[in-house]
Parts: sequence; C-alpha cells; structure tokens
Amino acid sequence: MGVGGHFWDLLKPHARREGFDYLRNKRVAVDLSFWIVQHETAIRKRSFARNPHLRLTFFRTVNLFSKFGAFPTFVVDGTPSPLKSQARIQRFFQASGLDLSSLPVPEDGVLVERNGAFRKCVKECVELLELLGMPVLEARGEAEALCAQLNYEGHVDACITADSDAFLFGASCVIKCIHPNSREPFECYHFSDIEDGLGLRRNHLIAIALLVGNDHDLRGVQGIGVDTALRFVKTFSEEEILNSLKEIGNGEKLLCEGDAGSADDPLHGSDSISPKPRPSHCSFCGHPGSKRDHFKFSCADCITGDGPGCLKKPYKFKCDCSSCNMDRKRKEQKKHESWRIKVCERITLEPKFPNDEIIKMYLSNNHGYFDGSSGPHISWDRPRSEMLVDFLAFHQHWEPSFIRQKLLPMMSTIYLRDMATNTADELLCDQYEFDSVHRVKTRYGYQLFVVKWKKAAHMTGGAVCEISDDLAGSRQHEVIDVDDQDDILEESEVPQIQAVDGTWFLLTDEDIELVTAAFPEEVDRFLKEKELKESKRGKSVSSTPEGTESELTKSKGVQLSITEFYRSTKVLYQAKPADDIVNDSKSFRDASSKKRSAGSSSKFSKSVRRRLLFDS
Ligand SMILES: [Zn+2]
Ligand SMILES: [Zn+2]
Ligand SMILES: [Zn+2]
Repeated sequence: MGVGGHFWDLLKPHARREGFDYLRNKRVAVDLSFWIVQHETAIRKRSFARNPHLRLTFFRTVNLFSKFGAFPTFVVDGTPSPLKSQARIQRFFQASGLDLSSLPVPEDGVLVERNGAFRKCVKECVELLELLGMPVLEARGEAEALCAQLNYEGHVDACITADSDAFLFGASCVIKCIHPNSREPFECYHFSDIEDGLGLRRNHLIAIALLVGNDHDLRGVQGIGVDTALRFVKTFSEEEILNSLKEIGNGEKLLCEGDAGSADDPLHGSDSISPKPRPSHCSFCGHPGSKRDHFKFSCADCITGDGPGCLKKPYKFKCDCSSCNMDRKRKEQKKHESWRIKVCERITLEPKFPNDEIIKMYLSNNHGYFDGSSGPHISWDRPRSEMLVDFLAFHQHWEPSFIRQKLLPMMSTIYLRDMATNTADELLCDQYEFDSVHRVKTRYGYQLFVVKWKKAAHMTGGAVCEISDDLAGSRQHEVIDVDDQDDILEESEVPQIQAVDGTWFLLTDEDIELVTAAFPEEVDRFLKEKELKESKRGKSVSSTPEGTESELTKSKGVQLSITEFYRSTKVLYQAKPADDIVNDSKSFRDASSKKRSAGSSSKFSKSVRRRLLFDS
C-alpha cells in the first residue's frame, strides 16, 4: 500500500537498522490498521490462535512500552477519502479482471470496502489499547496520514507503518519493520537519508506517486514506472516539479522546452544553437587530421616514435578530441530530450492529470480532529488492570493470573518511571516491593538490570512451598530462539519467580537508566558489591563475559519459570493442543521437558502459585 510500483525497493538501500534502545523515551505513532493487516496475515498463519488481533496488540503494546521503553500513540483510520474508495473499487475490478470503463462512483458515507469483520477487529483493539492506558487518535481519513502529520509537527519522533505514503504526508522517520530478536530490531527510513541518497524532496515523492499511481489513483500515467518517474522528476527542482506536472498535464508545456538542463550547462549556451562542424578525422587512426597528412607527417595523437604515419584505430575506437566529445554530448542531450518529450507526451495524454485533490491531500496538515495551535491530546494513563483482566478473560479466555503476569512488565516500567519522579505508590501492583538489583543481563548486545521484587510480607500468607530447581538452568534461552519472521514483537518478558528461604521474589528485566533514576542508592550499592565481588574473584572470572546469561545459573535460591505456570492455565481453554499456542515457549519446552521432574509441578500446585503471585 502507498505509492505504486516497487517504491519501497527504491527506498530500501536507504534503510537503517537501529538498535534496541532506539525508541526508548521516544514517542511513536502506530498505524493501527497496519498492525491489523499483519494480524490478518497472522490469522492465516495460525488459525488456532484465538483473536490474534487482540493477542498481538496486547503483547506488542506491552513490549513496545516496557521492553523498548517507547511511548506509543495509536492512530486509527477514519473515513477513507472518496478518492481512495474509488481506487479500492478499481483495484478490486482490476484484480477480478473486469472492465474498468463503468466504474461505480462511491456514495458519500456508504463505504463498504472495509468489511464489518475488520472494523470489529479495530474496535476491539482500540478498546484494549484504551484499557492499557494508551492514547488512541482517530484520523479524518488515512491513519498513515495522521501518523505522518504527528511526526512532521513534532508530536512524535517516528511512525510505525508499512505505508510508503507516510513520506508524502511528511513523515521524517518511518519504522517499517520490527525484528524483536535482533541486535538492531528497527528497520527505519529517515526522510533525510532518502533526500540525500536519492536527491528527492517531498514534492518529488508526491510527483512520483502521481506518475506511477498510488492508493488514491491506481492508474498513474500509463507507461511510466518508478524508474522513469524517478529520472523524470529529478530534472525539476522541488519548487517547480508539481507546477510543471500541472502545466505538462494540461498541455501548456507540451515539449517541456526551457526546463531542459540548467543555465550553466555549456551545451545550452550559444554554441549549441549553431554547432561548429566537426573537423575531418583520419580514417586509419581515427584522430583529427587526414590519412594523407598522417602518412606524410605523422599523427600528433598517435605514438609512433619518430617516423611518419599513424596506428590503425582499435575496434570500437572513440576519439577523445574536444569536438568529438562535444558531438557525443550533444547526441546524448538530444536522446535525453526526446525521452523527456516522450514522457511529457504521455503525461499530456493522461486525462485530468495530475489530480489536484490528491496533491492537496498529500500536502494537507489537517488529518486529525484537533487544531494546529493546541495540537492533539496525547497522554498515557495507567492500565486499568481489573478491567483488562475482565476484557481479556472474556475475549481470550485467559486466566486472570496469566493476564496479570503478562501485564507486569508494563506495570513495573510505570512504577519505576513514577519512582524516578517521586510519584510512585508504595508497592508495585499493591504487592511487590523493590528489593534489589539482582544482576546485569545482556540481551542482543544490550545490557539490562534484572530487578528483584519482593512479595510484600502481608501478601504471602505464610505459605511455604518447596520447588524443584530443575527448571532453573534451562529457561534462559527460551526467548532467544523465537522465529524472527513469525513473531513480531509478540514474545513478552517472562517474569521469573524465585524463592529464597521461604520468601518470594519476582525478577523482571528493566532498563538500567530507568532503574538508576528510580533507585539510585540501590543501584549504587549493587555496582559496589559487584565490583567487590569481581575483584575478590580475581582473574579467574574474566573468561566469562560480564553479565552474560551464564550468571543466571549461578544465582542462589530456587527459580521457577513462570512459563510453566501460565502454560498449564491455558490448556483448560484451548480446544487445539496447547503446545503450539505459545510459540515463545517452544524452545523452552524442548529444552526442559526431558529434565522436568514430575515433582516440580505437583509439589507446587497451580492454585498455590497463582495465589502467591498474581491474585490479590
Ligand atoms: Zn591517422
Ligand atoms: Zn592518430
Ligand atoms: Zn575527434
């Protein structure tokens, strides 16, 4: 979607992969329809997943917010412009191979292309996002247009959309893909890179879209593809391109004379009007002069030693004298001219080209329901946990404990942010108390703190459990093996549970800077202790890189993977085998199933675990 042809291919060389930390503390506009279109793909891929649009929206939002530390604003489509509706109907007819001559004209307000099912998906996702406390804005027309406007006006730092139209609407940074399991998860397109790399400004991109077709006019100009369009628009300056297209389009400028070349081009000086005749050249060596002269006096351009004569010109000889060079340039220019004329003729032939409304739409800065002076209302609220539990239990048939657990990374991120600004409650989720920084963890080259949260004393209720620690060593690779292609931002952080001497701890992964801002003294203490430990251990440890996963296995106490915990809860509700539902637990299961002792779950029943951790 967006500009026709292979427009993205044109931009692809100018993509940048940005690191794990790229969106931290940045605002980002998410084109929700784009996510839902991906959901549709996901539905086809795994039809066994219940409401994949809600599932993915939930996990991606939690991840975007907590793992990547971003502040997302979601944008939904409003009423598609009549132009786009028409283009869609046309696309439908094209796809079905029907005659295009009698196109139905879309009726105002009665827009049926986005079928009911899709609208229902969007509506449910919006409901979920609002329960998560995320701002959701409705675009007047296309979501990507409002995303781009928010970006252009500085309300957000980037847009997440796969619609190349975003650049035409003024976006400065478009994130087309997120590969969560990568050192550089974000595939970004900065408009400045495109400007530098392709020499194109926004008006040029709009002109290309008009020429090759776009969501609002699929046709474009017949016979003009992306490469021709690119070459053509570059012969105009950013200021003149759109007006020139109009003039060419209505035939005012049929031969595009006057635009060809720039003023300082020597070929367009007085010389080019009456080119000097090319002097005669030797037929034997090809250099200026004559064969007879060369035979008598030798050729100045041939190296023949002292004697007279010249050398036979090699195959495909090109004379390099100034008049030959000028001649070639002139021919090239002529060829270029005739190419331009041909393109111009095609443009002139195209009826009603270019469509002024499309140009106006791309250049508009009124894609949302807010006025320019006050800007949009964007704020992030706390997730409404209890309502979320109800919502997800109803739609996804998830257990409340599972929902709370999956929500925890978001809650801890908010808690730490609040703590950093002295506005936090006493306990995280009314249950957990910050205990300490447990260790440093490196993930895809990015360092994190594993934070230890202590279950507040009054909540534990004196339950004493013993768990096997068989799982402790095997879980840490679970998230790393997730298939990149299949899984977009979906896998979520899995808080670990740890029991030490009858006290329960939760472990979560947190951003180092955030934890430092929230609990500077604790971090200080942790770093000092770490330093002390390392100096005591001496050089023997240096073979193990600091903060790698291997430290996990050294940690004291008993660890229980909560994956085990939530997987069992889901079996109750899924008609299909639970095995494939949570693909992020696959590798964990493979690694651990052989090792897992029967005792681990029996000693520690589901209900006990749930009561201990997530039910309040
Ligand atoms: Zn010669
Ligand atoms: Zn010669
Ligand atoms: Zn020559």
